[in-house]
Amino acid sequence: MLEQWLPIIYIFTGLLGLVIGSFLNVVIYRVPRKESLSFPASHCPGCNNPIKWYDNIPVISYMLLKGKCRSCKEKISPRYSIVELLNMLLWLACVFFLIQNSTTFLGEGITMENAVGYALVAMAFCSTLLVVFFIDLEHTYIPDRFHVIVLALAVIAICLNAFVPSLNDGIKFADRLIGGFGGGTLFLIIYFGSYLILKREAMGFADVKLVAVAGLLLGWQNTTLSIFLAAVSACVVLAVPHFMGKKDRFKEYPFAPYLTGGMIASMFIGKALITWYLSLMP
Ligand SMILES: [Zn+2]
Repeated sequence: MLEQWLPIIYIFTGLLGLVIGSFLNVVIYRVPRKESLSFPASHCPGCNNPIKWYDNIPVISYMLLKGKCRSCKEKISPRYSIVELLNMLLWLACVFFLIQNSTTFLGEGITMENAVGYALVAMAFCSTLLVVFFIDLEHTYIPDRFHVIVLALAVIAICLNAFVPSLNDGIKFADRLIGGFGGGTLFLIIYFGSYLILKREAMGFADVKLVAVAGLLLGWQNTTLSIFLAAVSACVVLAVPHFMGKKDRFKEYPFAPYLTGGMIASMFIGKALITWYLSLMP
C-alpha cells in the first residue's frame, strides 16, 4: 500500500531533509558557542547583517551568491551547503534502506509499513550524529544534550517495538540492552585502560557515552560493526600523516566522526552485511 506513495515520500523527505539540514547548521554553529538557537535570527558572522529569507534557501542561495555574503562579500563556508546536502542524502537513505527495502536491510518479514516508525527514529538519529560529527571535528567535544537525544530515540524505538504491534524494526530488546551495556562497558574499559597504560586519554569520555546510548538503539550486532568500521577508518585516515613523516602522535584526534560514520553505515547495511557474512560460513 505504501509502495505507490514512494515517489512522493522521496520528494517530500528530500526537501524536508534540506530544510532541517539548514537548521542543523544553526545548531552546529551556536550550541558549542553557548548561543541561543532561536535568537537572534540568522546573521552574517562577517558583517552581522541579518540574512534575508531569499538568501537563506538551502544550497540554492549559496550557489546564486557564489559563496559570498550579499552585504560584505565575505566568503560563506561551504560547510553550510555540505550539511544540508548530507542531511538530505541521509534521510533519503533512511527511506531507501529502511522503508523501500526493509525486508533486505531490516530482516525477513519486516514490511514497509512495519518499518516506518524506525525509519523516522533513524532520520532523527542521522541528523543528531551529523551535528555530533561536525561539532566534534571542530571543537573535539560532544555537548551532553546530544547523548540525551540519542537515548530518547532509543527509548522511542524500544517502546514502538513493545507497544505498537504494527511498528516493528526486527531488533530484539535483549540485543539492544546488550548493545548499550556491552558497548558502553567495552569503551569504559578502553577509556580507563588507556589511562593506566598510556597515562593519557585514548578517547574522550563523550565517546564512551555515545557508544552506550547508540548501542541501545542499534543492538549489539550493529554496535560491534560500528566500532569495527570506526577503528578501521580511523586507522586508515590517521596513517596518512604518519607515513607523510608528520610525527605529532600526542595531538588530540577526535574519534566521534569515525564512530558516527560507522554507526550510520551499520544502521543501514549492518543486518544485510552480517547475514551475508554468516552465509559464507560452511
Ligand atoms: Zn556579511
